[in-house]
Amino acid sequence: MKLTPKEQIIEKNFKLGAITKDGFMGDDVRHVHDIIQHDAMTLEKLGISSGELAARMQFFIDLGKEAIENIVDWNEYTIQVIWSRGMLPCPFGEPRLHHKIFIELRNNKLNKSIRYTQLNVHLIREHGFFEGKGSPFRLEPEELVEVLSLDQ
Ligand SMILES: [Zn+2]
Repeated sequence: MKLTPKEQIIEKNFKLGAITKDGFMGDDVRHVHDIIQHDAMTLEKLGISSGELAARMQFFIDLGKEAIENIVDWNEYTIQVIWSRGMLPCPFGEPRLHHKIFIELRNNKLNKSIRYTQLNVHLIREHGFFEGKGSPFRLEPEELVEVLSLDQ
């Protein structure tokens, strides 16, 4: 596939060091669009929309934000949110910036933890993008659905 100049600029945003030190692709050699499409199929099988996922992810960020840096216990969850200074742009190139918010969310009933950022929530909600395999913030749709208890 031949990329337009705008697409080439956007493509660069996903690589190491452009927006974040590690980039968004990991060692995934697929095109961004193919990664999105594959994860969209997985979500469809799970019967969950990216909007529902993102809303649940945001819910936990908002819960944890109230107790910044401190641990919050809520039902079977343990939540810790860390809010760093500065803002990050989205690799898809819209002008809006995103807070550097990181959350560690532990589901004590399942004995499983996930970690994600405010930018992850945006990428999933607006772009259906879960990042490339091997990226430090790659999220697996199945795991998200399970840990966020959306499968009940
Ligand atoms: Zn975006």
